[in-house]
Amino acid sequence: MIHEILPVGPLQCNCSIIGDEQSREAMVIDSGDNIADVLAIVQKHNLKVQQIVVTHAHIDHVGGAMKLRKATGAPILLNENDTELLKMLDTQAAWVGVPPPGPVTIDASLTTGDSVAAGSHQASILHTPGHTEGSICLYFAAEKKLIAGDTLFAGSIGRTDLPGGSFEKILRSLHGTLLALPDETIVIPGHGEATTIGDERATNPYLQK
Ligand SMILES: [Zn+2]
Repeated sequence: MIHEILPVGPLQCNCSIIGDEQSREAMVIDSGDNIADVLAIVQKHNLKVQQIVVTHAHIDHVGGAMKLRKATGAPILLNENDTELLKMLDTQAAWVGVPPPGPVTIDASLTTGDSVAAGSHQASILHTPGHTEGSICLYFAAEKKLIAGDTLFAGSIGRTDLPGGSFEKILRSLHGTLLALPDETIVIPGHGEATTIGDERATNPYLQK
């Protein structure tokens, strides 16, 4: 599996470029900004981007999606429960102090039971509301890897004080869905360092019973 992680934009959102070494098929997750750099990685590995997956509709994760769609022709996949947040991108841009990216449209919604693939590398979608209503995680079972968006961080969890956030729901998503994954699962959070489900289960203050 080709997997490059590029922190993008002023909030350093972890953008993942995942590709198949044989077929060169790829997906990009959370192309929030710095699309020229994302495309340079895509070209370096000679990849074909077939899907743009967005873990949730905060501007630092979705801001560059339309630019990447224009450059690659790949569809934008994002859970429909974040549609309200997508309509507020101008407001979100003002919060962060970045130029508004213009309207973003969803080509298809993803939720629990769906899967996405970059060639032979397949991820199940887990709907994990709480940070936002439409937050999703991608679980690559064969590779034991979770792309967690802003639901789970090393030593912390996503904030729930923004529109659409719910502390009760994020705890339910964490305890009910993410902690059901094996301890050895590598977690790539939406910001900051990688961790594992086992480390977070043992030490994350929000995950103690
Ligand atoms: Zn967020």
